[in-house]
Amino acid sequence: MQFIDQARIAVRAGRGGDGIAAFRREKYVPAGGPSGGDGGRGGDVWLEADPNLQTLLDFKYKRLFEAVDGRRGGPNKSTGASGDGLTIKVPCGTEVRDLRTGILLGDLTEPGEKLLVAVGGRAGLGNAHYLSNRNRAPEKFTEGRDGEEWNLQLELKLLAEVGIIGLPNAGKSTLISVLSAARPKIADYPFTTLVPNLGVVRRPTGDGTVFADIPGLIAGAAQGAGLGHDFLRHIQRTRLLIHLVDASSEDVVRDLQVVEQELAAYGNGLDERPCLVALNKTELLLDDELEERVKQVSDHCGQPVMAISAATSHNLDKLLSATWKELGI
Ligand code: GDP
Ligand code: MG
Repeated sequence: MQFIDQARIAVRAGRGGDGIAAFRREKYVPAGGPSGGDGGRGGDVWLEADPNLQTLLDFKYKRLFEAVDGRRGGPNKSTGASGDGLTIKVPCGTEVRDLRTGILLGDLTEPGEKLLVAVGGRAGLGNAHYLSNRNRAPEKFTEGRDGEEWNLQLELKLLAEVGIIGLPNAGKSTLISVLSAARPKIADYPFTTLVPNLGVVRRPTGDGTVFADIPGLIAGAAQGAGLGHDFLRHIQRTRLLIHLVDASSEDVVRDLQVVEQELAAYGNGLDERPCLVALNKTELLLDDELEERVKQVSDHCGQPVMAISAATSHNLDKLLSATWKELGI
């Protein structure tokens, strides 16, 4: 199972500055020579792999990236300033393609690895450049050239850091849709009615963390009942689980146990993965009913239990703070 985040961006390098035509005018120098300076080079656009980024979330909001143009040349052969280059940070593992042809331009895997994606325009030459024996007073100068401009396709294979588990109907998909800032696409997934849901949730630091909702966890999933087995294999790569239980269910502790047993039966250390436990749909219960169920569940799992509601967003901020704390973000 592979999750893929995609984004399209346009990059434009700076235009080269124009050269100019100018002549020296100094007090005691008759017929001063040509002194028009060259323009500055246009800035380049680079991509750089940054280990602090996990997703392409930011490119959903900003799509056009432009480096600065070079400045015009000046008199006295002064060269115009070069345009500042632009470095765009992308997550490690980002593949970069030309959008039109699909040609792979680079694969930024190592932190700090850079890829030049648009070359700044060449500078124009000032008339000082064209001085020759035949022409002592050239008027000629040239204009700067446009910088390169490309449409790029960025692609990143995603790792879900947080898996949301729970019985069908616990509210996993609802929770993800309420929390998420973007929905990456799921690639290579065989057609079934059960599709894992993905959401990118914004971290306090700005970038995102991928949450995956693991559907199909029913009794016997670890032995291959339903499609849960497939998904269990996937959550093996998450760092944290959020176990969601429908608070309005008849027996909350039994619901919890069914899923716990599947994790244990699947093995591979899944049942020892850090796990936050949350009762969902709590707005459906009366206060004392809720208190009782929270107590039952926390007694059972020996850790605090959060009472949330995906429908009304009650305590979702607390759930997220606990999540960032567990992930060390
Ligand atoms: P999943 O099978 O775990 O993905 O569950 P869904 O997200 O599909 O939710 C199952 C049903 O519960 C849907 O009808 C949701 O609208 C409903 N639901 C989810 N969260 C809440 C909640 O906080 N309160 C209430 N009342 N209903 C909820
Ligand atoms: Mg669902």
